[in-house]
Amino acid sequence: MRIFLIVLGIVVALVLGVGGYVYQVAMSLEVERITDDLHMIKGLGGNVGVLATGEGTVLVDTMTLEAQGAAIRERAEALTGEPVVMIINTHYHLDHTHGNPAFDSGTRVVATERTLGYLKELDADYWTGTAADLLPNETFEHEHVIELGNKTIRLLHPGRGHTDGDLVVYFEEERVLHMGDLYFNEMYPNIDLEAGGSVREWSATLDTAMTLPATTVIPGHGELSDKAGMRVFQAFMEDLAEVGRKAAEEGKSLEETLRDADLTSDAGYVSPIEIPFVAGLDHEFVITRAWEEATGAVAPTD
Ligand SMILES: [Zn+2]
Repeated sequence: MRIFLIVLGIVVALVLGVGGYVYQVAMSLEVERITDDLHMIKGLGGNVGVLATGEGTVLVDTMTLEAQGAAIRERAEALTGEPVVMIINTHYHLDHTHGNPAFDSGTRVVATERTLGYLKELDADYWTGTAADLLPNETFEHEHVIELGNKTIRLLHPGRGHTDGDLVVYFEEERVLHMGDLYFNEMYPNIDLEAGGSVREWSATLDTAMTLPATTVIPGHGELSDKAGMRVFQAFMEDLAEVGRKAAEEGKSLEETLRDADLTSDAGYVSPIEIPFVAGLDHEFVITRAWEEATGAVAPTD
C-alpha cells in the first residue's frame, strides 16, 4: 500500500510538473518580423502568419489551445493595430486550428472543403457548442483569391502530401509563401495517410507550390526559410518515397524495411513535438508511413 502511495505521488507530481511546464511553453510566443506588414509567430504548434491589410488582420493558423489563440490575438492586434477579421486554416490538425475559438463568431474562417470535412469527422468532439462558430465558413476546393484592404492573398491546394486537404498561402505584395505542414523545416514530418496524406505524391505537390514566385517561405514547423530550404526537404521526401517503393517491390516486411532502409537525408532532423516525453515523429515513424502507403497496409479512410 505504501509503495502504491509513493508511486501514485510520483505520478501525480510528474503529471502536474509536466503539465505546468507544457502550459508555460505553450503560452510563450516568439514574434519574427518578415516585412512591415507580415510577421510570423512561433510557439507550441504550427507557425502563425500575421498580415496587416489596412482593413483588418489576417491570421494563418491558431496553434493548439484556445488560450494560445487568445494570446496570439493580443500579440497580432498589437503588431498591426487592426482587429483580426480573418483566419486561414492550412489544414485540420489541432496544432493549427484549436486556437480558433478564441476569436469572435462572425470572423471569416477560410479553409479547403476537405479540411472542413476532416474537422467535422475526425475532430468532432472539439468543435461543439460555441467552438463550432469558428469552424471554416468560407471553403474552396482548388484555388481561392482574397482581396482585402491593400493586399492580395492567393490560396492554393497544391496536391496531396501531409493530408489531401492542405492549402498554402501566398502573400502577393510581400512575396512570402506560408506552406503549412506541407513543409517541415529540418524536422520529421507527420504524414497523415488516414486523411489522404501521401509520401509518394508529396514531392510533386511541392513543385506545384514552388511555382509561386516567393522569396521567403514560412514552414508549418521550424525556422523561416526559402525555396532552397524547401528543395532540401523535397529531396528527403523523394528518398523516403524511394524507400517505400523499393520495399514494396521487394516484398519486404516492415521490420526488414526499418532495418535496411538507407535513409540519410534526414541527418540533423529533430522531432517537431517539443513536449517532453511525447515522442512520435522520428526516423522510424516516417519509414513506417512510407512502407504502409507503398504496400497498401494503410489507405485513406473515406
Ligand atoms: Zn499537421
